[in-house]
Amino acid sequence: MIADGQLQLQHLPALRGALLDWWEVHGRHAIPWKQGSCGTLAASGKPLDPYPIWIAEVMLQQTQLQVVLPYWQRWMAAFPNLEALAAAEEHQLLLLWQGLGYYSRARRLQQGARQLAGQPWPRTLEGWLALPGIGRSTAGSILSSAFDLAFAILDGNVKRVLARLTACPRPPARELSGFWRLSELLLDPQRPRAFNQALMDLGATVCTPRNPRCGHCPLMEHCAAYAAGTPAHYPVKDTPRELPFQVIGVGVVLNGAGQVLIDQRLNEGLLGGLWEFPGGKQEPGEAIEATIARELMEELAITVEVGEPLITLEHAYSHKKLRFVVHLCQWLSGEPQPLACQQVRWVEPAQLSGFPFPAANARIIAALLERLAVADAAVGSDHPGDTAAAA
Ligand code: SF4
Repeated sequence: MIADGQLQLQHLPALRGALLDWWEVHGRHAIPWKQGSCGTLAASGKPLDPYPIWIAEVMLQQTQLQVVLPYWQRWMAAFPNLEALAAAEEHQLLLLWQGLGYYSRARRLQQGARQLAGQPWPRTLEGWLALPGIGRSTAGSILSSAFDLAFAILDGNVKRVLARLTACPRPPARELSGFWRLSELLLDPQRPRAFNQALMDLGATVCTPRNPRCGHCPLMEHCAAYAAGTPAHYPVKDTPRELPFQVIGVGVVLNGAGQVLIDQRLNEGLLGGLWEFPGGKQEPGEAIEATIARELMEELAITVEVGEPLITLEHAYSHKKLRFVVHLCQWLSGEPQPLACQQVRWVEPAQLSGFPFPAANARIIAALLERLAVADAAVGSDHPGDTAAAA
């Protein structure tokens, strides 16, 4: 049970006041989607354009502010409004999202834009929750940021601050209703936009995951974890579970014309719609070369000669760890068929940067381009007299 009783009602005005006073001086006031039209912080109660806020909030769902900023700027330059987003090509969306992960978010933004076209912006929780990919905290954040409406938020930063304020003995994920109740209780109904932002800023800059700077915290005298001398114990975590580990054999297949084979994943799942080099899971006891040959036959109906290793890399997702063992392959026979993907293409290696790939594939591309450059240089140096001879 979350100990919200420790934050007694009579202390609420003091707590809110302390947090807002701190935020006026130390808050992150330069966030571009929180600015009014004249480039200064929006006045209390004054509405802001929800479109840039919506884009930013969806980007921020899995990613920190500093990482999101350049993505948001590029996105806003390419799709400055709802209409531009609704009309955009999916390929372009995915390219601009490349590196942010959870690519279904980009597609859902476009679905939302098409759903919202010609409608007034929603001003209710239900209205935002009806859009794909929007949860309660994102909806609350958009509503409070855009319209200064009194909706609570509960992102990772806020959960951490609340867990410490109350010294909650259970992981936030197991106390969600209590945390929501607490966030609603704390919210300043007079200044919800500023209050929510202040809470997030406090979590991001003072009440940080490691080494919270309690000596600079405006909530210090209200904080149960600080009083107990144990801020680092919170939020309490579930016992970490061992992540499943898989080895993936990947083939970078070249044909006689020097083109490389790539395929586009189905739209479902974590990396849906992105391009990749074909491959799949290694079976127990199987040599990696056999894995690659088998996967390419099963998924693309092609026969290849599996050649030398290109690169091995590890990548951890939240639910599994993968090791990609990548080999160069020579295409032998069979017209590539998209048996387990949307489409397959032969492309020039120099064209690879024009396709959206998952982050792990960027290193495969770099290794391939480097290997091809070395091979070209070797061919050149094997025939040093060619030019002179020709002349
Ligand atoms: S006093 Fe320390 S632990 Fe408590 S909210 Fe402030 S920074 Fe976090």
